[in-house]
Amino acid sequence: MNVLVLNCGSSSVKYQLLDMARETVLSKGQVERVGMDDGILSHQTCKGVKKRDVLPIKNHAVAIKVILDTLVDKEVGAVGSLSEINAVGHRVVHGAEEFAGSMLITAEVKSALEKNIPLAPLHNPPNLLGIKAAEDLLPGIPQCGVFDTAFHTTMPPHAFLYPIPYSLYRERRIRRYGFHGTSHKYVSERAAHLLGKEYKDLKIITAHLGNGSSITAVDGGKSVDTSMGYTPLEGLVMGTRSGDIDPALTYHMVVDMGMTIKEVNDLLNKQSGLKGVSGLSHDMREIEQAMLDGDEGGKRAFDMFCYRLRKYVGAYAAAMNGLNALVFTGGIGENSPLVRWSVCSNLSVLGIEVDKEKNESPAKEKTISTPASRVSVMVIPTNEELAIARDTAKIVREMA
Ligand code: ADP
Repeated sequence: MNVLVLNCGSSSVKYQLLDMARETVLSKGQVERVGMDDGILSHQTCKGVKKRDVLPIKNHAVAIKVILDTLVDKEVGAVGSLSEINAVGHRVVHGAEEFAGSMLITAEVKSALEKNIPLAPLHNPPNLLGIKAAEDLLPGIPQCGVFDTAFHTTMPPHAFLYPIPYSLYRERRIRRYGFHGTSHKYVSERAAHLLGKEYKDLKIITAHLGNGSSITAVDGGKSVDTSMGYTPLEGLVMGTRSGDIDPALTYHMVVDMGMTIKEVNDLLNKQSGLKGVSGLSHDMREIEQAMLDGDEGGKRAFDMFCYRLRKYVGAYAAAMNGLNALVFTGGIGENSPLVRWSVCSNLSVLGIEVDKEKNESPAKEKTISTPASRVSVMVIPTNEELAIARDTAKIVREMA
């Protein structure tokens, strides 16, 4: 079975075509600058064939048409015809409380997603456009939705509620939803597999550290707390997002500093985090380089990033009353020995002990803790596309 995974953002569509019999990627790529006359297609196949093209991409439907045409192209394609695409798996950012797992997309699912647009105004509209375009272009092919929020629907009320009037939850559904769920689930399951233990018997903390970062407490295979909240702004220090701040700062910025609420929102989402604190860059590679070159801003941002992450590890170990494994993933988690070292070398209170050489070894998937460490510290590359394709293939097989 071949599954096409689509990840539709506001101005881009990323794709992967996977052969699920072997769990291999046949082809992958992306269309950027959706909505522009100079859209960019970048495509490659497992055989190393590559294509880059600049062309008008009026909307998401055009982007998906270009992707499908490229996938069946005689020279650069991966399959002979569209009939070799057996299912489509869509990454959907916000499933709210309705979707505790991946679903076959039906009219009811689409209307629930429409209803959730106010919860994810930037993400759910392009996700819906992608679903509708794929349905039109691949009629009769099953389409499945895999939700970023689904893994976190197991959080108990004391973790997902905010300490504000309960009526705001009842009437406006204001609560913690959490994101990156597909990644947290994938790497925590993989950690259990690598440890050779039952998922249900483990207490695992997963740190997904990329441009957006979040950390999750997974107790017995269930997400019991996570750092992102009603929106992806809450929690850890991120590339350009602040993470946790005193909520009264927003009042101060508007009332005393004369900013508009839109400017405040922009400041917290786009001008803060590593970028705002360092005054240099949102990119951890550049932050680390600046720090090593003696730049104060780089060091300030790096230290804050690691310190706040460490605080969350401590909090989640306490929340679960125990910890068997700490997993690093995402661009920073997978590739930055410096961040991992800085976080873990100050966690001996939890019995965490990292081996310097293992931490710096080039292996992609590895255990970096010492044999004496009470907690296994692991680096596990995330693979959200594979997780989406697996869920999609499972749903389609169950339909047969
Ligand atoms: P996104 O959230 O957009 O998917 P990624 O998971 O690709 O982001 O992570 C991007 C982040 O990973 C950037 O901050 C980048 O600097 C960081 N990163 C990538 N490689 C390295 C590296 N070798 N060392 C430190 N940071 C890295």
